[in-house]
Amino acid sequence: SKPVIALVGRPNVGKSTLFNRLTRSRDAIVADYPGLTRDRQYGTGRLGNSPYIVVDTGGLSGEIEGVDPLMADQVRAALEEADAVLFLVDGRQGIVPADEVIANYIRQFDKPVYVLVNKAEGCDHSMVASDFFQLGLGEPLAISSAHGDNVAVAIEHVLSAL
Ligand code: GDP
Ligand code: MG
Repeated sequence: SKPVIALVGRPNVGKSTLFNRLTRSRDAIVADYPGLTRDRQYGTGRLGNSPYIVVDTGGLSGEIEGVDPLMADQVRAALEEADAVLFLVDGRQGIVPADEVIANYIRQFDKPVYVLVNKAEGCDHSMVASDFFQLGLGEPLAISSAHGDNVAVAIEHVLSAL
């Protein structure tokens, strides 16, 4: 059956934009304010002849006290069913404490995790990515969901490791 790839990260890092690109749909709602994608959203994509299922999530605030329980639930469900996790962070903002909280949460699921440093178009990729090594989840990859930079590379990494 098709591998399931979950998109996780803080609100507004670009998960839905990546979902739309991977599934070539415009179904996920892209917004400038957090928390709009309340339910998990599924789509299918393919890289060459390899199909996959991608799951968009509403995101985790990383503020344990303030987490919307419904949002936390759907992220947990997505992580449980995932074969691999794409952890999106914002390369323009750099690392923030919530990223560390989410990294520690994701780690508990013991799934293959790929740190994608989004919004990296026009930036020095190694510069924006280097900050995020300290999440302890391997080598971060700079991408642009909006422009498509390195998106296929990211999926290739995921699929080739499964
Ligand atoms: P989500 O909350 O994580 O699903 O984030 P969205 O996909 O809704 O995107 C949040 C905002 O970031 C929107 O204004 C997007 O247009 C913008 N965005 C998403 N990806 C990129 C990117 O690769 N580069 C830039 N510059 N902006 C992006
Ligand atoms: Mg979204």
